[in-house]
Amino acid sequence: MKIYLAAAVLVLSACASTPRTPSVERMYVIDCGENHVKDLSRWTPGVNVGKAHVFANHCYLIRHAQGWMLWDTGNSDGLAARPEGLAVAGGTITVFMKKRLVDSLKEIGVAPADVKHFAMSHTHGDHSGNANLFTGATLYVQSAEYAAMFGPEPQKFGFVPSNYDKLRTNQTMTLGGDFDIFGDGSVMILRAPGHTPGHQVLVVRLPKTGPVMLTGDMVHLTYSWEYGVVPSFNFDVPASMATIAAMKDYAAKTGTKVWVNHDKEQHAKIPKSPKYVE
Ligand SMILES: [Zn+2]
Repeated sequence: MKIYLAAAVLVLSACASTPRTPSVERMYVIDCGENHVKDLSRWTPGVNVGKAHVFANHCYLIRHAQGWMLWDTGNSDGLAARPEGLAVAGGTITVFMKKRLVDSLKEIGVAPADVKHFAMSHTHGDHSGNANLFTGATLYVQSAEYAAMFGPEPQKFGFVPSNYDKLRTNQTMTLGGDFDIFGDGSVMILRAPGHTPGHQVLVVRLPKTGPVMLTGDMVHLTYSWEYGVVPSFNFDVPASMATIAAMKDYAAKTGTKVWVNHDKEQHAKIPKSPKYVE
């Protein structure tokens, strides 16, 4: 009891006398594959008809004082064995994963078991490709997404259960809205439904860069963010539009930068792992 009290006093005095150290230390932006599409207009209805396009894909590893957090897991590491890529969606998309996520993590000195906090923007294959590696982490997921993932018809939502079926046993926080992961406001999940039933975005308060929103597939291009454009195949198009409006409001009020996961041109300007952003 005595020791406990002494420790508590120490902690309190430290808080009073020293400036608070930033709780997010840095973030690694990891290349997590590419999706080559034959007709970009599927993602930008009415424009770019018949135009081929390369979508980048990223995973984000956050170093917080309380441990590692991973956001999204990219295309499946199994695709690394297919340098020519794998044609999916009736041949309209070819997916690639040149460098495995496990190898990118290893380069930073992180094993999958070191990741203690884990969330995905949503459960489509290019975000959940390596989800089954992270069974030792606490999973943060919207209850609507969880119900779709583990309900009777995951295929109806475009989900492939073999990507994520091991997450069933994770310690799980099912959410019905926004959530402050570490309780200090430094990493916030924001509910952002529409693309899938329980799609979510992440806001990371970086010590030097400031707040950054990681979009998942709320939008696929900076163009889509600017003009409020979403694919017609989204689970709920009106909800998608409402989400974009709400997030634009949030970003404007809080000075949050918006990093669009699949935008190759935008991400070309952001340092990639093993470099990091602060
Ligand atoms: Zn995606």
